[in-house]
Amino acid sequence: MLPFELLKPTSFDEAIELLSLDPDNSKSIAGGTALMLMMKSQIFTPTQVISLRNIKDSSYIKSESNGEISIGALTKLSDLENSAIIAKHAPVISRAMIKLANVRVRNSATLGGALSHGDPHMDLPPILSALSANARTISPEGKRTIPVDSLHIGYYETCLEPNELIYEITLPANISPYSSYLKCTTRSADDWPALGVAVNLMIENNHIESSRIFMGSIADTPTRLIELEKRLSNQDLTPALLISAAEFASEEIDPVSDHLGSAEYKRQLAKVYVKRALLEAYNNGVNYVK
Ligand SMILES: Cc1cc2nc3c(=O)[nH]c(=O)nc-3n(C[C@H](O)[C@H](O)[C@H](O)COP(=O)(O)OP(=O)(O)OC[C@H]3O[C@@H](n4cnc5c(N)ncnc54)[C@H](O)[C@@H]3O)c2cc1C
Repeated sequence: MLPFELLKPTSFDEAIELLSLDPDNSKSIAGGTALMLMMKSQIFTPTQVISLRNIKDSSYIKSESNGEISIGALTKLSDLENSAIIAKHAPVISRAMIKLANVRVRNSATLGGALSHGDPHMDLPPILSALSANARTISPEGKRTIPVDSLHIGYYETCLEPNELIYEITLPANISPYSSYLKCTTRSADDWPALGVAVNLMIENNHIESSRIFMGSIADTPTRLIELEKRLSNQDLTPALLISAAEFASEEIDPVSDHLGSAEYKRQLAKVYVKRALLEAYNNGVNYVK
């Protein structure tokens, strides 16, 4: 790793000021679980590393009066995993966390880092996209709100400016408990997924009103299955629908081969995992205890 200067601002304002001094040669660091590996392999060679860890009041999980949940960007993944608020409001996140990397990584990695890294194999971007979460950002231009489903624009690429930071993530009020996330790993259960499917069903008495379905690990960004969502809309959830939806999904996607599986393999996984994820979302909703 090449030498660098480590700076430790105590506010987001100070951090974006430091990032703006030399954006091309600066990187922010939160948990460091992704950035350190990229710096060691010299994919990134910043001369200034701006640690976000000393920023005051940047780690929290709060229920707001309008029913939304606000999560500070520096909140550790293990805090999400163990949060009673998350378990009640968005249990799909708590359940997914157990299979995301390992305890050591979750104890360091932050939610802001998980959304900013931009690796298309990550678990949280499709989940938070399916839940219609938003990322709130700050830069010298001011603050803006970016839907998580628009954050990722390419392979390891987000729409964030070099001197823009996520300071908070918000989950909408009244998330449907009919939600699931399933990942297929080819090695251990907590490995990077060869395919991940996040499902969020708005359902009333077995009747699907609408849905949000995102797949990870099949393209350079999380992929929304818009045609499948249309196909499921206004349908009763029946075994026949599950089978046809799974077939339909595997035809809608255009997966790319990578080190975790060939395109053909991922298409086959989609067929199996969409069906399972829909069924699991339904069961999670039926068994949800307020
Ligand atoms: C062994 C191992 C196994 C893993 N397995 C999985 C897995 O199964 N599933 C999975 O989803 N992930 C997995 N990961 C990835 C892990 O989730 C990420 O490394 C982690 O979420 C990144 O968060 P961080 O806080 O450590 O980010 P950092 O490494 O600190 O930063 C990552 C990137 O985000 C930027 N950044 C950080 N915070 C912000 C912010 N607030 N605003 C804007 N930009 C910011 C940094 O500049 C950097 O470019 C694994 C990682 C390791 C090391």
